Amino acid sequence: MEKICVAVRVRPPVAPETSNVTYWKPEDNRISLHKPLGTPISDHVFDQTCTNASVYELLTREIIHAAVEGFNGTAFAYGQTSSGKTFTMNGSETDPGIIHRAVKDIFEKIQMTTDREFLIRVSYMEIYNEEINDLFAVENQKLQIHESLERGIYVSGLREEIVNSAEQVLKLFESGEVNRHFGETNMNVRSSRSHTIFRMVIESKGKDTHSSSEYSSADAVRVSVLNLVDLAGSERIAKTGAGGVRLKEGKYINKSLMVLGNVINKLSEGARQRGHIPYRDSKLTRILQPALGGNAKTSIICTIAPEEVHIEETKGTLQFASRAK
Ligand code: ADP
Ligand code: MG
Repeated sequence: MEKICVAVRVRPPVAPETSNVTYWKPEDNRISLHKPLGTPISDHVFDQTCTNASVYELLTREIIHAAVEGFNGTAFAYGQTSSGKTFTMNGSETDPGIIHRAVKDIFEKIQMTTDREFLIRVSYMEIYNEEINDLFAVENQKLQIHESLERGIYVSGLREEIVNSAEQVLKLFESGEVNRHFGETNMNVRSSRSHTIFRMVIESKGKDTHSSSEYSSADAVRVSVLNLVDLAGSERIAKTGAGGVRLKEGKYINKSLMVLGNVINKLSEGARQRGHIPYRDSKLTRILQPALGGNAKTSIICTIAPEEVHIEETKGTLQFASRAK
């Protein structure tokens, strides 16, 4: 798998009779609008019939397995509100999402790795209007990012829970979801205006195997960070005719998504052309920095809606996808 893997996922139409504008050619992963031919813009296209199981299989499983082996990784869902980001990350009763599958997979993999012992910590945060809030502890608001030699880049005061089982992690995640939606009404769907980062830190060291070599590599401590990110809706603010609070939210979202696009674009250009990578230009990229460059594995699932009314936003999302590739 390449270091940055980009996919497009089309959700099913809300009403079957609506006129849909996306066309997909499975043979060569081409997607286009209005006409059935276009240029390939991503590594995979998932059509309306695809399940979270297949998205996980093709796009995330490798990242998860690498994370257990000590490599950092990040999986994003990018797209306009109502295009299927949260469906992809959280899933449904019958088709669990990326997060659920990742958590199960990690603990299965750990169980099978008998020569190492593991310490797993999870945290869950939201970035809303460039403020970082803790979704495990609502009292922890406006948290700051710090950097130290010992800890690297970290969010100060963020609650981290040490966990021992997939069930425990999923329960914690659910409690965070409740906080994420607290106080939301239909008119004020804050969750679509914030980025959320569900993070697992996987630490392991080789068990004492009475090896004769003092420097056996199995003894080395490995620490990896895995981020599962549900981004804020990518829709342009102008369309909603927003003022006041909405306008402010929109500006922050547009800026952080633009910075993310710039960072990803730089990273996908390859080492030689890269130059300066603007991680520091937004809280989102700053927090994710350690798990984006270097040896980290990254996947981006760009979700789109098939309906004609969404065509401008869909174009924007496809553009993001093609810049990331
Ligand atoms: P977003 O998080 O991007 O705002 P959602 O994930 O909430 O969008 O999706 C909007 C609606 O469409 C939800 O009711 C969701 O259940 C449904 N939906 C999205 N993607 C799919 C899919 N691939 N299959 C079935 N239903 C989907
Ligand atoms: Mg959502």
